Amino acid sequence: MNADPILRPSPISASVDFDADGIQHGHLRLPWSRDDSAWGSVVIPITVVKHGEGPTALLTGANHGDEYEGPIALFDLARTLRTGDVSGRVIIVPALNYPAFRAARRTSPIDKGNLNRSFPGRPDGNVTEKIADYVTRCLLPQADIVLDFHSGGRTLDFLPYAAAHELPDKAQEDRCFAAVAAFSAPWSMRMIEIDAVGMFDTIAETAGKVFVTTELGGGGTATARSAGIAKRGVANLLRHAGILAGQPEIGETRWLDMPSSDCFGFSPEEGLVEFLKDLGELVAKNEVVARIYPIGRTGASPYEHRAALDGLLAARHFPGLIKAGDCLSVIATIEDHA
Ligand SMILES: [Zn+2]
Repeated sequence: MNADPILRPSPISASVDFDADGIQHGHLRLPWSRDDSAWGSVVIPITVVKHGEGPTALLTGANHGDEYEGPIALFDLARTLRTGDVSGRVIIVPALNYPAFRAARRTSPIDKGNLNRSFPGRPDGNVTEKIADYVTRCLLPQADIVLDFHSGGRTLDFLPYAAAHELPDKAQEDRCFAAVAAFSAPWSMRMIEIDAVGMFDTIAETAGKVFVTTELGGGGTATARSAGIAKRGVANLLRHAGILAGQPEIGETRWLDMPSSDCFGFSPEEGLVEFLKDLGELVAKNEVVARIYPIGRTGASPYEHRAALDGLLAARHFPGLIKAGDCLSVIATIEDHA
């Protein structure tokens, strides 16, 4: 009989001691045998800061390798955080899917793995599944609060928002949305997912953690504004958790909701995209949000994509060309209350 894979130890070893006081900069080493390195490894940077009594925050960036606000904020935090600043523990992994991050790709060039569709992972799976398994079984159980940074990557662009999901446990949901409010991005979202299976979010929420995610921009880069939102947000979240002293710097945030899967617009056509609305603009139900021109001939009418609900444009396809089935737009509704 096969052993239950969940009982196997993770092949990843950490050079840091999660229980040691002080600040440690180290690596998670995942054996990766290949042509150019028979006994080689994937080495994922990690920082652990532990001091005094308090909760543990797990902060992760580059779950998708082409999303940069998280890595910028977390590499910066790892170099600037001082032991004496912390009450509790901060575990920082700025580039969680490190092979994807180095390749500037959403998914891993090693195995094509999409880390945020690979949870809970497998200790005997591919490289991406082994990273997911290590997070699930080694990092997540140590955490009270989890912040997993995302942005749109190369193919999407978002209004900058922090987000949490509706949860069956309303007390946990309240804690998650309180943490979103403390992050204090310009926008705050009650988010639904196209397909939540395999996501870090789902695993962390099922484990009862306070989980915050973000979508802070996109297009495969970060701006001064979006990186600043990420830096302020993570500091605010640590203050909210009591790990850093002081109160969060709360700015104005507007709450958005994704009330149903009607929010997501997908392109039925391949072609050239013309958006008639920009991010943050109001749209009315049935209003044309974008045109898609066929590119193989002239004289043809473009496909017109119409909004399925009243709201505002919260996310859009980023590249100028689109394929059938690509996500074209996300229309969110504006909430009057937090
Ligand atoms: Zn992402």
